[in-house]
Amino acid sequence: METRKYNFSAGPGMLPLDVLQKAGGEIQSWRGSGMSVMEMSHRGKEFMSIAEQAEADLREIMEIPDNYKVLFLQGGASSQFAMVPLNLLCNKGKAEYYRTGSWSKKAIAEAKRFAEVTVVADTESDGKFTSVPAEGAVVHGSDAAYVHYTPNETIEGVEFPYIPDTGNIPLVADMSSTILSRPIDVSKFGIIYAGAQKNIGPAGLTVVIIRDDLIGNARDGTPAMFDYKIHADAGSMYNTPPTYGWYLAGLVFDGIKRNGGLKAMAEINQRKAGKLYAAIDASSFYSNPVDPACRSWMNVPFTLADAGLDASFLAEAKEAGLITLKGHRSVGGMRASLYNAMPEAGVDALIAFMADFEKRNG
Ligand SMILES: *Cc1c(COP(=O)(O)O)cnc(C)c1O
Repeated sequence: METRKYNFSAGPGMLPLDVLQKAGGEIQSWRGSGMSVMEMSHRGKEFMSIAEQAEADLREIMEIPDNYKVLFLQGGASSQFAMVPLNLLCNKGKAEYYRTGSWSKKAIAEAKRFAEVTVVADTESDGKFTSVPAEGAVVHGSDAAYVHYTPNETIEGVEFPYIPDTGNIPLVADMSSTILSRPIDVSKFGIIYAGAQKNIGPAGLTVVIIRDDLIGNARDGTPAMFDYKIHADAGSMYNTPPTYGWYLAGLVFDGIKRNGGLKAMAEINQRKAGKLYAAIDASSFYSNPVDPACRSWMNVPFTLADAGLDASFLAEAKEAGLITLKGHRSVGGMRASLYNAMPEAGVDALIAFMADFEKRNG
């Protein structure tokens, strides 16, 4: 058996070990079926039972109200950047966006192909994003078809500590890097979407949670694959869905359910992030630039006092079994992503390594 390392990748990220073991045990033949989940017809009774159970478990752990559909799609969060305006603008043509980091910038650029975009908040300062607007500071215009924001900016490690109040205007959230990290009130959202590869499962699956009244309004000429109604009416089986990703996501949902649900997940996540930020703040060797009020629980960027030590930090961390800590090229330094599947012991090991590295190089 090869040993596993603590992988701090921002995405695809770690998956829970018990999920990998279970999938490994079932990879050649799923529960007496004589075939791998990868080899099953998506319309056969075996896969249908996997699909239904996964959706039921996600609905249970997120407490998704009945007037929302859950779609299991492909195309990544990046396809949702286009799908949202194609389906939600109706005849309004206007949409409001929060600009709080690299991913919301991409969402805005894509929406501009289809919509008149109003940026209602822009937190870029000196080329950096280190905060979000204060709660209540943004006023939303009544003529917007929807408001879009990114609750957790994966690259900058900036997170909204609140859900924006948009009144009657549907709120759309790119939750790719924070979904399932804690309980959220789904009823406050029109659409929640997430690429799976951070906190749900493998890359290739995209989960969309959408309120019923927002389905069926795609603009003329929308390709079938970009129309929420076509996917909703077909139970996400208009074409072949990402079956294996759906199955693995189901194993992840089941694990969360059995381990105390999202409340338990939130406690662990808050503790993991809290101790890493505390270690960074207690040292003058490491620093994190983000406003403490909106520091991400999931992605913790940090820099070393001397960037000349970055390469040896990364090489020695790797020796210690701590991998993929290099920061995004746009931010520099390091980034430790602490998704649900990162064990607390991995965070403890990182903190111990950082202290030791500082002692030797500080
Ligand atoms: C990773 C990420 C994306 C991109 O997801 P893809 O599935 O690769 O398209 C978009 N938004 C956020 C917040 C992300 O973290």
